[in-house]
Order: sequence, then structure tokens, then C-alpha cells
Amino acid sequence: MANPEEMYQCQGTNCGYIYNPDKGCKKGKVDKGTCWTDVPEDYKCKVCGASKKSFRPLAGPGSVREEHS
Ligand SMILES: [Zn+2]
Repeated sequence: MANPEEMYQCQGTNCGYIYNPDKGCKKGKVDKGTCWTDVPEDYKCKVCGASKKSFRPLAGPGSVREEHS
């Protein structure tokens, strides 16, 4: 199982959609409980179709929050 600190949400910079690991993404065929690091590299945003690379974590390494601290 993933560490709780890895269960951070991730926001698409393109459309603002937030991926929630607790819920996963049904459309993207990602099971609930899948942390962002375990989401497939070919995952596409269910809203705008943007690639996984266009998502930024809301917490953890490389997150927006960390950059502003
Ligand atoms: Zn999107």
C-alpha cells in the first residue's frame, strides 16, 4: 500500500481538474486508492485529455505549495 504522504492530489494545469487518489479516475481506468505516482504514464485528463505530465501535485515534492514556501 502507498504511504499516506504519497496520497496527494494532483491538478491539471490545463483545465484545473484535480485528481484525487482516494477516488481514482473511472474514465481514465484508474482504480480508487491509486496514488499519483502509480497512475499510468499514458493517463489522460478525463476533462481535457491533457497528459500526466501537465499535472502538478498539490502537495509533496515539486508541488505548487512547496515552490512558494
Ligand atoms: Zn484537464
